[in-house]
Formats: sequence, structure tokens, C-alpha cells
Amino acid sequence: MINHLCVIGVGLIGGSLALALKKSGYVKQVTGMGRSLENLQKAEELGVIDQYETDYAKAISQADMVFVAVPIGAMPAVFKKIEPHLRKHTIVTDGGSAKHTIIDAASEELGVKVNQFIPGHPIAGTEKSGAEAAFDSLYSDRRVILTPLEENSLEDVKKVRKMWEKAGAEVDEMGARHHDLVLAGTSHLPHVLAFALVDCLNNVDDVDEIFKYAAGGFRDFTRIASSDPVMWRDICVNNSEAILAMMQNYQQDIDNLKKAIQNSDSDELLKIFSNAKKARDTFCM
Ligand code: NAP
Repeated sequence: MINHLCVIGVGLIGGSLALALKKSGYVKQVTGMGRSLENLQKAEELGVIDQYETDYAKAISQADMVFVAVPIGAMPAVFKKIEPHLRKHTIVTDGGSAKHTIIDAASEELGVKVNQFIPGHPIAGTEKSGAEAAFDSLYSDRRVILTPLEENSLEDVKKVRKMWEKAGAEVDEMGARHHDLVLAGTSHLPHVLAFALVDCLNNVDDVDEIFKYAAGGFRDFTRIASSDPVMWRDICVNNSEAILAMMQNYQQDIDNLKKAIQNSDSDELLKIFSNAKKARDTFCM
């Protein structure tokens, strides 16, 4: 049971954790902390949090669990601000989508208190942002990846695992670098491609005509291009190596497809499309 949860960044990810834990009765009190008063007031009004603070010392002073759910680029400053006020038994965890640079920032800013930081990433989300986008079932039957540090105690890792399970998620553990590579392929590359496709079509001459006839396939493929640009800029900057490796693989596949189309190579096209369909039907159903 969590007596006092402090959510720093009460948006889709932070707000949904608060709501899920309230619903399961696993948290007694939730304090929100963030940047704009407007979002915090809205979060309180919606019952996502019980109260809010605009001062880090007050926000975390009573917390036994702190969940950092701000864009990755804002995390180093948050770690720096909470460090002086972090009590010995308070656990800090996060929801950032790329892990190794967040861990570097936490080591730098939290110093010896980095042993209290258990990095995490819920594999769940939507293209919506802010407290109003939060909902209590976001994590139901979804996965959460923890990338624990050598400095963490097993007991603290267990507590974070339990928190996510109470929010409805299934929890896995892996190394941060491995996490970043896996997510570069399954999440970061698709977002980059969706942004690139919409940007590409937006720059052609008959842009109105193109979007007018956009059908289901276009909508399915590009829904994620409505995601928050700041969040995705931060993910690309913080997981550049793995994303670039995945883009290189993808470029190779595009080149193969281009060659097959140029050569009207029906067999090759059928082979590529059949392999892709089989893989998707097997792994994504
Ligand atoms: P979000 O809905 O935009 O929420 C982010 C929150 O952080 C907002 O409440 C925002 O407050 C606050 N914030 C922004 N900059 C801040 C700063 N400098 N200091 C303090 N608070 C600040 O974003 P989200 O989708 O919940 O994403 C949060 C984190 O979860 C990100 O690290 C992201 O990588 C990760 N994540 C996202 C998804 C997804 O699908 N969205 C999935 C998994 C993980 P204001 O309203 O005042 O700006």
C-alpha cells in the first residue's frame, strides 16, 4: 500500500497511474506537482490528484513514492530539484520512454541517492496529452518494463513492481540498453515514420486534395503523428543511437522494395508483403 504518492508531471502517463491506483485502492493520497497551475488545477478538479504543490520540497516531503512523468528533456532538472528533499525511504521511479540517458541524468543529479531511483517505462499510451487525457484503465493488461540499477535494493524494486501490478500491468525487467534498442524498433521508429509521412504529404502541392481522400489506412498509420512533438523530440534526442540503427535497417528494406517496384518484380513484392503479413498476424493478434 502506498500512503502518499507524488506525481511530478500530471499528464497522460502520470495522471493515469494516479487514477489506476486510486481505483484499486492501493494509494491513500496523491499530490500532483508540475509546471503550469492550470493543468494542476484541472487534475485536482477531475479527481486525478487529491491536492497539488508548486514547491518541490513540499510536494515530496510526505511521499513514500515519487513518480516522475515529465518529458525526458525535463527530467534532469526535476532530479536536481528533488534531490535535497528526498527522504531516505522515499522511492523514486519514472515513466520515460528511453532509459539509458535518464539513468545517466539520475546518477549525475541524485548522487548517492540514485539507489532510491528505479527506472521504468509503461508500454501504454495514446496520442493525447495533459491531465484531461488520463484514464484509469490505461495500464490494464499492458506491460511495464523496469530497468533496475545495481544500486537498487530488491525490496524497492519489488515495491515499484507491485505498484504497477496494482495499476493493472504486467511487469518485466531488462537492462536499459536492451530496453532502448527494443523500443527503438517497436515504438520510436513507427512514430518517426508516421511524423515523416504526414510531413512529406503536407509538403506536396495538392495538400488539400491529398488529405481529403485520406482513408482508413492513412488514419491507422498516422494516428500517432498527433502525439506531442516535444515528447518525441526528447525521445529521438535521448535514444538516437538505437533509433538510427533501426532507421538504417528500415532504409535497406525501403531500397529493396523500391528496386522490386522499379523492376516490376511481382515475386519479390509478394514475398516481402507475405512475410510481413505473416509476422504481424503471428505477433500482434
Ligand atoms: P503529458 O501528457 O504531456 O504530461 C507531461 C506532464 O509533464 C504535464 O503535466 C506537464 O505539465 C509536465 N511538464 C512538462 N514539462 C515540465 C517541466 N519542465 N517541469 C515539470 N513538469 C513538466 O505527457 P505524457 O504522455 O504523460 O508523457 C510523460 C512521460 O511519459 C514522458 O517522459 C514520455 O516519454 C513517457 N511516456 C509517454 C507515453 C505516451 O504514449 N504518451 C507512453 C509511455 C511513456 P504542463 O501541463 O504544465 O506542461
